[in-house]
Amino acid sequence: MSTGKKLYEGKAKIVYATENDREYLTYFKDDATAFNAQKKGSIENKGSINCTISSALLELLGNKGIKTHFLDQKSEREMLVKAVEIIPLEVVVRNIAAGSLCKQTGLPEGQKLAFPLVEFYLKNDDLGDPLLTIDRLTLLNIATPEQISLLKEKALKINQYLIEFFASCDITLVDFKLEFGLDQEGTILLADEISPDTCRLWDVLEQDTEKRVLDKDRFRRDLGKVESAYQQVQKRVLTQIEKLKNN
Ligand code: 5GP
Repeated sequence: MSTGKKLYEGKAKIVYATENDREYLTYFKDDATAFNAQKKGSIENKGSINCTISSALLELLGNKGIKTHFLDQKSEREMLVKAVEIIPLEVVVRNIAAGSLCKQTGLPEGQKLAFPLVEFYLKNDDLGDPLLTIDRLTLLNIATPEQISLLKEKALKINQYLIEFFASCDITLVDFKLEFGLDQEGTILLADEISPDTCRLWDVLEQDTEKRVLDKDRFRRDLGKVESAYQQVQKRVLTQIEKLKNN
């Protein structure tokens, strides 16, 4: 697909304008970063895998009534999306303790949480994406209290659908990060991507605490076999989507 002006280049994606001002074309790169870009590298075929997994999951959620920016997967690495203005928040949902939750609270990795935890982080690399309180969120005028409760409600609904879907792929959804945007009418749409870059995914069929990791933690923690883990997620997701289509 012919691309228009480059509007934005992030760590993992490039956003281009299209001939339609209501649509953007997103290009998924192989570049990988972690720890606020202090660790840099590349994961072979990541762009294609993440674009394919994200397209499949966003379409699945769309079919469940979740409004998303997804329009079409145009090629292996290109996703056509509705033009939105990204709300500068990372909305994290956690089902099992891992990552920064363990570091900051002392909860042991792998502990099932009593309820799904929804957290808001400021999307600001210079500040290291800090965890926000609801009052800080309101103070910074990032979202109205109504929008904040809507975001939480949407995140929890998405969590329910994704837990169930990933379980059918023999994958445990540990936690994940979502981003939302506002379209020209001010409607909140789920945006960005849902992929092994943005989720913690553990293989149900594997007990070993390192071998079970099927997500970006393999890159973050130098566990090796990053590409094959991403491929495994793609294979299971696409197989399951195909099954759902045929039912
Ligand atoms: P944690 O806060 O434990 O580092 O991350 C929680 C979840 O959100 C993980 O699934 C992680 O992959 C995702 N996440 C949080 N921040 C980011 C980010 O800046 N980029 C990406 N790709 N994922 C993030």
